[in-house]
Amino acid sequence: MQTHQYDVVIVGAGGAGMRAALEASTRVRTAVITKLYPTRSHTGAAQGGMCAALANVEEDNWEWHTFDTVKGGDYLVDQDAAEVMAKEAIDAVLDLEKMGLPFNRTPEGRIDQRRFGGHTRNHGEAAVRRSCYAADRTGHMILQTLYQQCVKNDVEFFNEFYVLDLLVDHDLAAGDVADGEEVNVSGVVAYELATGQIHVFQAKAVVFATGGAGKIYKTTSNAHTLTGDGMALAYRRGIPLEDMEFFQFHPTGLAGLGILLSEAARGEGGILRNADGERFMERYAPTIKDLAPRDIVARSMANEVREGRGAGPNKDYVLLDLTHLEPAHIDAKLPDITEFARTYLGIEPYTEPVPVYPTAHYAMGGIPTNIEGEVLRNETDVIRGLYAAGEVACVSVHGSNRLGTNSLLDINVFGKRAGRSAAAYAATAPFVELPDAPATTVEAELETIRTRGDGERVADIRRALQETMDANAQVFRTQESLTQALADLKSLRKRYQAVSVQDKSRTFNTDLLEAVELGFLLDIAETVVVGALNRAESRGGHFREDYPNRDDERFMRHTMAYRRPLASADKPAGDGAFDHTEVFDDYQLVLGSKSVTVTRYQPMERKY
Ligand SMILES: Cc1cc2nc3c(=O)[nH]c(=O)nc-3n(C[C@H](O)[C@H](O)[C@H](O)COP(=O)(O)OP(=O)(O)OC[C@H]3O[C@@H](n4cnc5c(N)ncnc54)[C@H](O)[C@@H]3O)c2cc1C
Repeated sequence: MQTHQYDVVIVGAGGAGMRAALEASTRVRTAVITKLYPTRSHTGAAQGGMCAALANVEEDNWEWHTFDTVKGGDYLVDQDAAEVMAKEAIDAVLDLEKMGLPFNRTPEGRIDQRRFGGHTRNHGEAAVRRSCYAADRTGHMILQTLYQQCVKNDVEFFNEFYVLDLLVDHDLAAGDVADGEEVNVSGVVAYELATGQIHVFQAKAVVFATGGAGKIYKTTSNAHTLTGDGMALAYRRGIPLEDMEFFQFHPTGLAGLGILLSEAARGEGGILRNADGERFMERYAPTIKDLAPRDIVARSMANEVREGRGAGPNKDYVLLDLTHLEPAHIDAKLPDITEFARTYLGIEPYTEPVPVYPTAHYAMGGIPTNIEGEVLRNETDVIRGLYAAGEVACVSVHGSNRLGTNSLLDINVFGKRAGRSAAAYAATAPFVELPDAPATTVEAELETIRTRGDGERVADIRRALQETMDANAQVFRTQESLTQALADLKSLRKRYQAVSVQDKSRTFNTDLLEAVELGFLLDIAETVVVGALNRAESRGGHFREDYPNRDDERFMRHTMAYRRPLASADKPAGDGAFDHTEVFDDYQLVLGSKSVTVTRYQPMERKY
């Protein structure tokens, strides 16, 4: 075991992690730990854009952007956070421009902007051009730009190091730490892929920026590595996860594959059609049609298929039509995604419509934080020295449904804030003593799995998990489907206790790490399903066919999911509708809730 000491340790080198690193590393000794090489992080796969009310091509302002974000999130958004994001968006884009990001330009030389779902002028009048972009490779450009800056600033990276535990000085998971009591972070434990060695990083401040968890689903736009590690580590240590039932299904995944075709395709004029060639979004969202928010478009598509108007031999997808656009325009604005259609489906988008169907895309929920990036352990208490930003976090700017291009924005705005807060804290805070034998839990788990003889195969359990989530916790949900998912998860968890790997080596053992990641996926899936079962209403990305309406009276609160021991009598402040406990073999999932911050906008019915 090796030990290291840094003022700030950042876990994750995607957009959020590297933006935080740029802030922290100039102020205090900072390390970035990442299981992937930084430039392989999923931020690099982002296509369509990053929004900010620059008003470069038409009238716009940050207040309209705030409103759209709140309405898009079906009023579960914390409005103070949305306001911060929309205001700071403008500098976030200009910061990237100054760092050298090659944005597309208007003929006058300004940063060009295009339309995206749910972004409107004057509170819903018409779609507005708010998304800044670099063709359909915006995330790639952001990731490369931030990485170059990190290299220039000598940020220290620990690449292919997997963080597998979070160290805090109180056992929150035991459920007996009183409200108001001071809880401090002391560091993290990591596993080095190349050597199999364990490293303990003592740190005054830790920033989690580990990204999303799309791999709980089979049909997903997410990379193989998005296994919810940071969320699961927090959850196992007794930190609640917020609003996990809200998962976004992006309307336009390549049918049958889930590979993403950016909403930019519709922003540039693409149209969705059913088997009859009808532009069906005119019926569901008469004002902004194909550019309605993702939850609405995804549901409308799934509904067309259910009602028999799907295209193709099995009538199981709809069509994204770009054939009316000039090929030169497609090549200039959408080069990568049209190439995906050619490569993976053998379709020529110049002349043929592309088969598409919703694909699991984005976790609206995550580790609860305030607008400074500090992690909350209940409605009000922060954990001193612990921060989170990006898709792993829930601040909550996306509420129950995120608008397209608001995530690349979120990672820049709140990555910066978390990095700055962590550095400021670490500049004066002392190191907190590490627990005795800090790596025991991690070492024991790894050795048990590595040395186990014949057992359950990782791929089998993962497939079963993804299949039940696709079948039972997707765009449409019911009490019955979710109860089925929960039963499946409970039995998969039992099977997971016997998981084994074929590769027994001590170095470069990716098999072993996939087994560990599968454990994270199971944790995340159970918080999604239990939250969804309890939320007997429909809001944003969570649609219950048995409760098709939004119910502000009972459910206009954030869900908080806590893992507690079976014996614990701890009942987090969860009132009324959130009073629910789900018993698993050797622990229980206790739900609580947290209030929604409302500043300017009272909840209204959501129409587009
Ligand atoms: C195909 C696709 C297209 C998208 N397009 C857009 C778009 O156009 N606009 C938009 O706003 N949003 C888009 N999104 C969403 C957006 O890209 C992501 O939400 C965002 O980039 C997430 O950034 P992040 O920094 O939080 O995480 P990531 O970029 O996913 O980075 C996570 C980091 O955490 C590290 N990590 C994870 N677990 C561990 C561990 N256990 N130990 C150590 N390190 C760990 C990884 O190595 C990685 O460096 C898109 C997403 C996808 C999948």
